[in-house]
Amino acid sequence: MSNRIAEKVKVAGVVGAGGAGFPTHVKIAARVDTVIANGAECEPLLHCDQHLMATYPDEVVAGLRLVMQASGARQGFIALKRKYRTATAALQATLKRQGADNIHFYHLENYYPAGDEFVLVYDVTGRMVPETGLPLHVGCIVQNVGTLVNIARAQQDKPVTHRLLTVTGEVSQPKTLQVPIGTPIGQVIQWAGGATFEDFTSSIVLGGPMMGRLARSLDEPVTKTTSGIIVLPPDNATVRALSRPLGSWVKRGRSTCDQCRDCTDLCPRYLLGHDLEPHKIMRTINYGLTALPFNVTAAVLCCECRLCEAYACPLELSPCAYYKEVKKQLAAQGWRNDIHKRTDLTPHPFREFRRVPTQRLTARLGLTKYAGFECPLDPGTYQPQRVVIPLRQHIGASARAVVRAGDRVSVGDLIGEIPEGKLGARVHASISGTVQEVTSEEVVIVA
Ligand code: SF4
Ligand code: SF4
Repeated sequence: MSNRIAEKVKVAGVVGAGGAGFPTHVKIAARVDTVIANGAECEPLLHCDQHLMATYPDEVVAGLRLVMQASGARQGFIALKRKYRTATAALQATLKRQGADNIHFYHLENYYPAGDEFVLVYDVTGRMVPETGLPLHVGCIVQNVGTLVNIARAQQDKPVTHRLLTVTGEVSQPKTLQVPIGTPIGQVIQWAGGATFEDFTSSIVLGGPMMGRLARSLDEPVTKTTSGIIVLPPDNATVRALSRPLGSWVKRGRSTCDQCRDCTDLCPRYLLGHDLEPHKIMRTINYGLTALPFNVTAAVLCCECRLCEAYACPLELSPCAYYKEVKKQLAAQGWRNDIHKRTDLTPHPFREFRRVPTQRLTARLGLTKYAGFECPLDPGTYQPQRVVIPLRQHIGASARAVVRAGDRVSVGDLIGEIPEGKLGARVHASISGTVQEVTSEEVVIVA
């Protein structure tokens, strides 16, 4: 039975909807005792997960049960913010109707990064995921609520073809809507009434303002992991930070870091007891102390939450940018982590008092103006004329195209298959039409 659930999830092309897009059929094949539905949605301004829980509670719960069944888990938790009252009421009604006694709620306060897997597993279960480990190492699977809905739909043989996302910031009608995968983000912005000013193309954030990135162009397609499109003024603090090149961060850090340690004191991984002290990477790099490789390779412990850069540092410096670069270099050198694997972790005694309230973070990001936007769920059906569907929207190998230019396809048809023996995810047509172009990277379909 459990294999059949994972197989259907694989066939439907389900990947983690809340993060980097890890193929879900692999994740749910683990044996654990606890599954946590992650509805924290801790990034400021995003609303898609709360709308999803409020609108599709039966599918969220069905997905959670399926993962519990597939992994042999005896208990499930739905972790969501206490302030998501409508979502909580909808999920409670579903659970009451079904009489579930092994699924529990865990209410989170409004802080960042409440949805980080390491943080969430510790808060919900009291178990500590080892350094560079996975929740399954302590008997847990954490699954985003959007992924759970896709898992439930996979059992009905419905592949992943659409994405629910929030469009907000400087748009005329901030909203949450469902769009076909491969839709150009410029089109989605139009569906939200368009931007409120011209020349906005270089200041669009894809994803949340903390862990997202700037869009490269209006033609970038929506993927299975696109949770938000945020249009911001070019001089906004978030845009400035996301567009700053590494060289500029290093130059600033050399001249101004005063080793105050604020970045370390608020780092969520340091507060869980990991050997990650971001003020030390600043010292090590700025003063060329390469004889301290432990502080450098500790980069693998950084989850790139950007708290040090966007909130903690009083001088707007970025240990996170240093760590990202170090990680790239370690990967290029084929460095193997044998040292950052501690399991004897003790949370910092002041951890509870050092959580970062989302409201204050939002202010620091220059986003308070948009924090009150409710971004209501638009139930409309949106259909672009043309979609560009990437063959790699997930961790692992690109899918191999199984269609050719000129082929007719319908919504849900398979267009990309997992290469033999590789980690990956299938890709499906998101609109009906004719395949216009196929490359090793994408499939273009015209309605
Ligand atoms: S990077 Fe910023 S917060 Fe960290 S030690 Fe330097 S000045 Fe302090
Ligand atoms: S980005 Fe900064 S605050 Fe976040 S885990 Fe990395 S070092 Fe810590």
